[in-house]
Amino acid sequence: MAQPKSIYGNTVVIGAGIGGLAAACLLAADGSQVTVLEKNATVGGKMNQHITKGYRFDTGPSLLTMPGVLTQLFSYCGKDVRDYLEFSALSPVCRYHYPDGTVFNAYDDLEETCREIRQFAPEDEQAYRDFLNHTRALYARTADVFLFHPLQKAGDLLQMPVMDVFKIDALTTVSKKVDQYFSSVYLRQFFKRFATYNGSSPFMAPGTINVIPHVEMNMGGYYVRGGLYRVAEAMRDLAESMGVVFHTGQEVKQIVVQDGRVTGVKTQNDAYDTDLVVSNADAYESYLTLLDRKHSSLMKRKILEYSEPSCSGFVLLLGCNRTWEEKLVHHNIFFSSDYPAEFEDIFTHKRLPENPTIYIANTSVSDSSHVPGTGSNLFILVNAPYLHSSQDWSAATSAYADKLIGMLEQRGLTDLQKSIEVKEVITPMDFYQKYRSNKGSIYGTSSNSKMAAFLRPRNRHSDLENLWLVGGSTHPGGGIPLALLSAFHACGVPVDSDKIQL
Ligand SMILES: Cc1cc2nc3c(=O)[nH]c(=O)nc-3n(C[C@H](O)[C@H](O)[C@H](O)COP(=O)(O)OP(=O)(O)OC[C@H]3O[C@@H](n4cnc5c(N)ncnc54)[C@H](O)[C@@H]3O)c2cc1C
Repeated sequence: MAQPKSIYGNTVVIGAGIGGLAAACLLAADGSQVTVLEKNATVGGKMNQHITKGYRFDTGPSLLTMPGVLTQLFSYCGKDVRDYLEFSALSPVCRYHYPDGTVFNAYDDLEETCREIRQFAPEDEQAYRDFLNHTRALYARTADVFLFHPLQKAGDLLQMPVMDVFKIDALTTVSKKVDQYFSSVYLRQFFKRFATYNGSSPFMAPGTINVIPHVEMNMGGYYVRGGLYRVAEAMRDLAESMGVVFHTGQEVKQIVVQDGRVTGVKTQNDAYDTDLVVSNADAYESYLTLLDRKHSSLMKRKILEYSEPSCSGFVLLLGCNRTWEEKLVHHNIFFSSDYPAEFEDIFTHKRLPENPTIYIANTSVSDSSHVPGTGSNLFILVNAPYLHSSQDWSAATSAYADKLIGMLEQRGLTDLQKSIEVKEVITPMDFYQKYRSNKGSIYGTSSNSKMAAFLRPRNRHSDLENLWLVGGSTHPGGGIPLALLSAFHACGVPVDSDKIQL
């Protein structure tokens, strides 16, 4: 009989977000007996869904990048991801609406996108080609060290060739680098938007973050048939097929430590003894609430307290009894007219943006079963500040929702208000209360400082060798592929960086 690879007989995973589900699968594949304790009634964490009156919405992620990480997870567990999930490439990947009425359909096909650019910014066509090459080179220089490596010790950075350190745009910002390449306002705003994919400001985040457009525009952005929540369901099914036991409605209150080792966890009513704890709770909560403070150094606690969280989101779900076929594709962006002011509102004044950029995912374009009859299921997202005393969430919600509806009517979604059959709002307060994410942030810590990548909590506790940390608030960061990678790093399972695309 094959010997289990895991030296840990019993494992408790705290939280069934993407990182927790992935860790549960990898450990179960290695022979550990895994129990997942999840505070909510369902698995998936921020990857969640809402179904009402025949309308179905993904309430978290709507775009999947680097699907090869999921493929490798399933394959490590002896399964073929295609038996569980159907990835579909969208064309265009996203439609951008500018305040002056210009429309830009962005494709993951270079020539198709350049044909579009020739219509509204011909002077920037060559810059587009050059910049995508630049982002590809950034990825080649940084991905192995910052994404595919656990980066457990400072010395691990030495893997990066010395000269490359000066070629990763760490000393400039996303915005400044983009402005060097492009002259049109259209492509400048287009490329600055990608910093929001990890909850950062393009005016503060280092130019290294310009790797993100490479991931979407060169490698591809995907939808998952049925909705993104299928990913969480598939991972739960995979885990259960290997014997993982899920207890939902179980909030862990304490990680128990005795004689320098983690020995168990306590929930409201129960205690679980275990050989290993993998925490998918926000790292801030794991270190500062679940663990007794004496198990974290003062420096560690200060870093956690002073690291700026990523932005949060204001979400409006609208089930509408009509379509806007001429306006909306699957992913849509309605850009604001003043991008610097928008980020100033979010990160400096920490209030809802007066003049927001509005993202709409309309999965009914790809999945007609997500609406009853003919209609639209609009997931509307505006970047919003993390929880702070400057913004009162109990007061703002309904007026801001009405403001967004009014703005969208002006931008061409005629009679939007009249067509609404379902209306729900999700605020940063909900993200905090539901998932316990630090100050309601949705991507862990922001990359607004040059040091962010180095300060993110690592995937293994430095003193307690049987406490591991996974999820978007840990290394390498937020977003589905990175939360998955955190579990590979914690579990010591190597990732093949050449097999990240489909
Ligand atoms: C609106 C929105 C849009 C997004 N869009 C995208 C996108 O398009 N593409 C993309 O790649 N990413 C996107 N993201 C980010 C992505 O969803 C997250 O990075 C990822 O899902 C985080 O996974 P995680 O492993 O950190 O777990 P989390 O989602 O943070 O889940 C943690 C789980 O732990 C549970 N938990 C916490 N504390 C305890 C406790 N003490 N006891 C028991 N259980 C506990 C929580 O209930 C939760 O279920 C988006 C997120 C949001 C909210």
